[in-house]
Amino acid sequence: MIVVLKNNVSPEEENAVVEEIKKLGYQPHVMHGVARTVIGAIGDEQSHRDLDVLNAWTQVESVTPIQKRHKLVSREAHPQNSTVNAGGVIVGGKKIQVMAGPCSVESEEQLMKTAHAVKAAGASMLRGGAFKPRTSPYEFQGLGEEGLKLLAKAREETGLPIVTELLSQDQAELVAEYSDMLQIGTRNAQNFQLIIAAAKTGKPVLLKRGMSMRIMEWLLAGEYVLANCNPNLLFCERGIRTFEDYTRNTLDLSAVAVVKAESHCPIVVDPSQGCGKASLVRSMCKGAVAVGADALLVEVHPNPTEAISDAAQQIDLEGFAALMDELAPIAESVGREI
Ligand code: PEP
Ligand code: MN
Repeated sequence: MIVVLKNNVSPEEENAVVEEIKKLGYQPHVMHGVARTVIGAIGDEQSHRDLDVLNAWTQVESVTPIQKRHKLVSREAHPQNSTVNAGGVIVGGKKIQVMAGPCSVESEEQLMKTAHAVKAAGASMLRGGAFKPRTSPYEFQGLGEEGLKLLAKAREETGLPIVTELLSQDQAELVAEYSDMLQIGTRNAQNFQLIIAAAKTGKPVLLKRGMSMRIMEWLLAGEYVLANCNPNLLFCERGIRTFEDYTRNTLDLSAVAVVKAESHCPIVVDPSQGCGKASLVRSMCKGAVAVGADALLVEVHPNPTEAISDAAQQIDLEGFAALMDELAPIAESVGREI
């Protein structure tokens, strides 16, 4: 911890802070500058009392931790990029992985048609919601376990591993049984008990950014996965609430660069929820690849206008194939492949 004293602190006041730091179990190292005095407090921040109490002292200007609060997800803990293996697909390596499929699993026909088409176009994983977190209780809530069974069948037919959302702790085992990666949605991004339950299944956890979440809060929510002995965490930027209402959310591509700098965990971008408009998905995918995303999560539907959920933002099968072609040169230009 770094403790900065206020200007014009007397030697007695400085000494009182030094003694308090010792009492709290740290070794103080005093540095007198021209205008300020700074005290380095050396000790294990985890096993001693919190030095934050010094903020209440009138002679103290600030108390700043040296260690990051997001210890395990930070690059301090693990300088190299981590990779996550989901059913044999490696996310975080040279290849940018594309997870594609419908917002909701609606029927066997819809899912199989989509799964075969996205596979043929080069997708590496299949997405699809079986438990849907709908804003209104009167809207389609998903097919539940039936949807999970269809996803597992699609994986059997295409070989594409599955990513799908769970909404509650009691669904964790069930969803993990059928899928290869567990999605925690934006509405549950700080539901820590749910995050822990997902982590404990041992399956990779894709943690969406809460729609009103700061990046630091998101990193700390991810910390719950690693702190519960599951190293397989992926962050997913999916847009945040801002004053702008032209798009459904504001896709924060700067967050990709920030998370890459702060964390070793792979980062995924979901431009479908991010913009809410099918017409913007292709350009935002290209931007995401250019800024360093490790994977994309894209909503694809054989007939978007008839989709039961998120009809406005799903791209069709032809649009998805065209997108995959467009992404290849961009991936190459940033030293990646797709
Ligand atoms: C989704 O992926 O369909 C979804 C509901 O995502 P989010 O939690 O980001 O809204
Ligand atoms: Mn959706």
